[in-house]
Amino acid sequence: MKLLMKKGHVYLIGAGPGDPGLITVRGRECISLADVVVYDYLANEQLLEFASSHAELIYAGKIGGAHNHEQWQINSLLVEKALEGKAVARLKGGDPFIFGRGGEECEALVEAGISYEIVPGVTAGIGAAAYAGIPLTHRSVTTSVAFVTGHEHQEKDDTEIDWERLSLGSGTIVFYMGIKNLPQITRSLMEHGRSPETPVALVRWGTRPEQQVLEGTLSDITEKARKEAFKAPAITIVGEVVKLREKLRWFDTRPLFGKGVLVTRAADNAGEFSRLLAERGASVFECPTINLVPPESFGELDGTIEGLSSFDWLVFTSANAVAFFFGRLAAKRLDARALAGCRVCAVGPKTAASLLPFGIRPDLVPADYKAEGVVAEFGRMEMKGKKVLFPKADKARDVIPTALDEMGAAVTAPVAYRNIIPDGIPEKALQALEEQRIHCVTFTSSSTAENLAEILGENRMLRLLEGVKVAAIGPVTAKTCRELGLNVHIEPQEYTLEKMTEAISDFFNVQ
Ligand code: SAH
Repeated sequence: MKLLMKKGHVYLIGAGPGDPGLITVRGRECISLADVVVYDYLANEQLLEFASSHAELIYAGKIGGAHNHEQWQINSLLVEKALEGKAVARLKGGDPFIFGRGGEECEALVEAGISYEIVPGVTAGIGAAAYAGIPLTHRSVTTSVAFVTGHEHQEKDDTEIDWERLSLGSGTIVFYMGIKNLPQITRSLMEHGRSPETPVALVRWGTRPEQQVLEGTLSDITEKARKEAFKAPAITIVGEVVKLREKLRWFDTRPLFGKGVLVTRAADNAGEFSRLLAERGASVFECPTINLVPPESFGELDGTIEGLSSFDWLVFTSANAVAFFFGRLAAKRLDARALAGCRVCAVGPKTAASLLPFGIRPDLVPADYKAEGVVAEFGRMEMKGKKVLFPKADKARDVIPTALDEMGAAVTAPVAYRNIIPDGIPEKALQALEEQRIHCVTFTSSSTAENLAEILGENRMLRLLEGVKVAAIGPVTAKTCRELGLNVHIEPQEYTLEKMTEAISDFFNVQ
């Protein structure tokens, strides 16, 4: 009897030029469907986060011609995995069919009888030009654009590029893989009639926070690139449109462009802050100094949840407390109705916003986000004899419970979650610190600073942060930083991530 084996399927996906936001919706979906993801040097590794947890991740990169895998090996890898019945995502930088050898991979799949889907991507020529502020066509400048490889096979004696037609035939010319051959490319264009004054831009790591743009003309760009030791991967844009960059550039003029910023918040909470910083152009390095985990025992919290109806007030000082509290409520098969008799206080707009999805609109949101602000608000009320529930982190400051206690309230403060200090910091963050690619370190609570000192050791932290600007979210955090021997350079007026991001942007923008 012939064994019927399910044949796999290959998704050939364009990962886009670098900014992970530039993958297509379908591309991202296909990554999540895959059992195996085979990815390239130019595909942003952040996209691997969309892969399922069981997926096998295989790097098949080729760095500057030093082939980790030969093309035939990649082809057979795709075939082999698909024949095992697996869904394979082949993630390629830019678009798979633009100088990506996607065509060759498809041919191998056809020969092996394997089905596939091709998901186009934003090719580097398009992406890098957009992020450099260079429109490849413009009604009043040029009507045509050509994409050309600048890296012809070395064994070829004669060029296959029809330089004469190319030089004068296309308004804008975009060369891929052309940095090494820049002297020959510019010379050929000039020899075939293109003016030496034609503007040229080289865009390296386009669309990424480390994007570099070098501008010149056909006659001087080679020398400029040599002086700056300008390296691949970069595209070369030739044509009058390059001049428009002066007016249209937007990506590399953002206030934090080129600045490395270290985010020390817990991984669960870092996302939004990282996004705010990245939107202003920063290269963000996440370096969690806190892991949030459940309490060792839920006994204390469970006890209060059972007696919820007897409390007058429920106070949350962070979105984490909200998440863990409602998580436990759900685990006990309860919901927001269990809070029916309670008034709810949320410290800060973020905490208030985190309550809304649970159907709770807080009764009190103190204008001042510090614990002291909460105390002042309660001070205006009659708290004597009131029962207050304050689910907290194990290492939380005692200001609120103590003050409420002094007002005569009966405070119960069960531990809803714990802050655990990780053993080390991520390799990428450490490397960036050591190579002095970090310009600003951000502390969004005292514990982020204390924990970083604990993880690295105080002296090593001070050494690694030498010359790095320190941003602290508020006076309490700033004080902790100073006690640890750090100078605080940036402190927002209001203690929110938005204001902190603004303060960091202002600081670097006027520097
Ligand atoms: N399939 C890819 C191209 C692969 S060829 C695409 O569609 O974009 C590799 C070349 O692409 C590099 O040598 C460089 O010229 C260009 N390239 C890829 N990513 C780039 C980026 N982020 N910035 C500038 N050039 C890039």
